[in-house]
Amino acid sequence: MLPPNKKIGIIGGGQLGKMLIEAGQPWNIHYTILETQSAPAADIANRHIIGELSDADKINALAAQCDVLTYEIEHINIQALLKLEQEGKRIIPSPAVLEIIQDKGLQKLFFRHNQIPTTDFELVDNSTEWTDKLLKLKGEKIAAKLRKGGYDGKGVELVNKSEMLNFYNKIPFSGPAVLEEFVENAIELAVIVARNEKGEIRTFPIVEMQFDPKANLVEFLFSPADISPEIEEKARRIAMETIFKMKGVGIFAVEMFLDQDQNLFVNEIAPRPHNSGHHTIEACYTSQYEQLNRILLELPLGSTELIKPAAMINILGFEGVKGAYEITGLDHILGIEGVYIHLYNKAETKPKRKMGHITILGDTIEQVKEKALVVKQHLGMKQL
Ligand code: ADP
Repeated sequence: MLPPNKKIGIIGGGQLGKMLIEAGQPWNIHYTILETQSAPAADIANRHIIGELSDADKINALAAQCDVLTYEIEHINIQALLKLEQEGKRIIPSPAVLEIIQDKGLQKLFFRHNQIPTTDFELVDNSTEWTDKLLKLKGEKIAAKLRKGGYDGKGVELVNKSEMLNFYNKIPFSGPAVLEEFVENAIELAVIVARNEKGEIRTFPIVEMQFDPKANLVEFLFSPADISPEIEEKARRIAMETIFKMKGVGIFAVEMFLDQDQNLFVNEIAPRPHNSGHHTIEACYTSQYEQLNRILLELPLGSTELIKPAAMINILGFEGVKGAYEITGLDHILGIEGVYIHLYNKAETKPKRKMGHITILGDTIEQVKEKALVVKQHLGMKQL
């Protein structure tokens, strides 16, 4: 049953919140967001509580107005959420899950304790501990990550072990961090998992990410991924096991590395719809956003099958363009069959800011890749 005007509260009003609301509009769901003044979702949310995401009073006000709460960003006030859950509020995903995911150190320990394959790692509380811990890790390259607060590659530094051992002043983080072994020439995969309170669980077809090495942001994303059926099956199984063991309910993106010997390592989990699932809006029978609405409203999960092979391109703020802007090339891009543009309603750009995305569908993944290159070539941004 789909009750009319069910009220969903979203902590955060960014593009993920916007797309969650868009997916719920055919069902007349009522959304309230908690977000600072202007935000991508602000124009389409039914209500907007203006406030900081860390403000417990505002979170309580949001909870009082809604049947169920979710969030579209990890860096939020967990204490307020834990208290609300204890008082009986439905919060999806549960704050206990968020607590693990917010801290890259706790996440890695969770993987280790649950036999989920992940790269070997050490935890440090401050820079004086780096030397001992680095010596315990294999390989010359190390991925160093702040335990809390990083996003989109910020708070992650790829470092050389010998340089860190010899030049103490080059250590990038003074606070609590994870030091982990680097996977050389890794293929980066993401598996989006949907799990509801009844324990129903499904994965979306795997996506392969290609990164812009300078920005450390996804440049192209393709689904299906160029991997064997055995690896596809194994990655889906690992992703489901991870979410099951975490007792996760909601939508989760499980990011993985595939090394040259075909070993899979879980990198990290996002407890929300993810950049690597934007294409599901047009490419799958049920998008990641509709799937989350279904979970929030206690409806059965929808089919995650791909209707057509897809690519996704993030529209990132161009170098040298700041403030008011215009996206160019759309006349050409929108003339191509199977191309869909999503803009995030951001008034101002800055280099690398996520301004929108483009999904490209085709009959084969080869055709999709050809079209994606043409789209990328024509996409531009002009300063106003
Ligand atoms: P964020 O949470 O900011 O997305 P990630 O942990 O995903 O940070 O790291 C950002 C990027 O750095 C990854 O997508 C990958 O390209 C690279 N990276 C991180 N850890 C490793 C690793 N152990 N081996 C190889 N590459 C890594």
